[in-house]
Amino acid sequence: MANVTHIAVVPSPGFSHLVPIVEFTKRLVEHHPNFHVTCIVPSLGSPPYSSKVYVKTLPSNMDFIFLPPINKEQLPQGAYPGTLIQLTITFSLPSIHEALKSLSCKSPLTALVVDVFAFQALHFAKEFNALSYVYFPGAAMVLSLFLHMPNLDEQVSGEYKDLTEPIELPGCVPLQGCDLPAPTQNRSSEAYKHFLERAKGMLIADGILINTFLEMESGAIRALEELGNDKIKIYSVGPITLKGPSNEVDDSNECLRWLDNKPPSSVLYVSFGSGGTLSQHQINELALGLELSGQMFLWVLRAPSDSVNAAYLEAANEEDPLQFLPDGFLERTKEQGLVVPSWAPQVQILSHKSVGGFLSHCGWNSILESVQEGVPLITWPLFAEQRMNAVMLTDGLKVALKPKVNEDGIVEKDEIAKVIKCLMKCEEGKGMRKRIRELKDSAVNAYKHGSSIQTLSQLASQWENLDGIFGK
Ligand code: UDP
Repeated sequence: MANVTHIAVVPSPGFSHLVPIVEFTKRLVEHHPNFHVTCIVPSLGSPPYSSKVYVKTLPSNMDFIFLPPINKEQLPQGAYPGTLIQLTITFSLPSIHEALKSLSCKSPLTALVVDVFAFQALHFAKEFNALSYVYFPGAAMVLSLFLHMPNLDEQVSGEYKDLTEPIELPGCVPLQGCDLPAPTQNRSSEAYKHFLERAKGMLIADGILINTFLEMESGAIRALEELGNDKIKIYSVGPITLKGPSNEVDDSNECLRWLDNKPPSSVLYVSFGSGGTLSQHQINELALGLELSGQMFLWVLRAPSDSVNAAYLEAANEEDPLQFLPDGFLERTKEQGLVVPSWAPQVQILSHKSVGGFLSHCGWNSILESVQEGVPLITWPLFAEQRMNAVMLTDGLKVALKPKVNEDGIVEKDEIAKVIKCLMKCEEGKGMRKRIRELKDSAVNAYKHGSSIQTLSQLASQWENLDGIFGK
């Protein structure tokens, strides 16, 4: 292909490790039409509903190679999602290699960009004379933790959660050990071993792309740039989310129609990401707390589970989630709220003028989407690195409130009602709304003519120039 710069991309299974990297490459192709992207997609089996729907919207100007699903019997039972994702990549390595080989025969590759869980594929780049990059779909603060992890592992004895002093990552808000990502909470676990492997494994890359932007995480990003020095270049290319014309939802959607009749900024949106789940006890408390708050709400509800990430990687419990609500709740709140089962068009909901708050599990994509729409949050972290994200929102950016959790790990109804009222009505909430609206402006600017669009163009011209040098 003459004058075409060819990039290969390897996402990981799981909605939030598939979408952001694909959306990044869509941006690349949109701004630089001389690029051609091939996505090599590993698979764990039947993907969750969210991924199935997303895959149907993929653009025709990019190529997708869906690898055969791995043999699930090779996977340990009941393992942490991060472990399952990483092992899926490990078992897919031969087919990733095969796909890269046949691609590079057709057209030489300039760069290989892999999701952080697919770091083992970075090794293939050299063989195909391509540069290698990690796409990190999280916060700069979380990337900083990854890059400092090998040192922390050497310096800290015992569990991080028992540390009496906060952990101070350069340019970041201080963190308590118990707020570190879930896999680091038990240092003798397989999940921790895999976490460390990823942290060390990504260091062979030529660069790391992060889905964040300078105005939101300037301290952390600047510190990372210094840390990477000239060895690993850091590129902040965010915020990259599902927002965009190709992801528009039919206006007749029930949630959007329901929101149309509500006053501006009056509705609290409640959602726990693409697969977060609550226990039955917590669903009851949340329902009663929402009711007690008197605020209008739109709640995306999943059937209960005692595992917080039950629906993340695979198709969820098919039972109707509404049957798990407290008796009479739907009838009593029919003027106050709407409960939708399992999935809703989140980006469009957050951009609706009637939405004034977001009770969120603090997945990184949800945070970026809320920032892009200037919607302040209530933090409800469940798994992965969500606790760290929550600390950034509450202590760092001061755009979110944190409800208290009781000694049994439950957020009680009175606490829920109190925090909702504060976010939606009181002065503290107004300050948060003001601050997140300022961030929204910076987010818009980052991709109009600000830092991220400049970084993307810089990266694209480096790749193009390389084609010139090597005559690819
Ligand atoms: N999402 C959605 N509708 C839902 C739930 C989630 O569109 O009902 C999307 C949401 O907009 C975001 C992604 O799913 O883009 C969730 O990603 P996040 O990083 O917030 O959480 P995760 O799914 O990784 O836990």
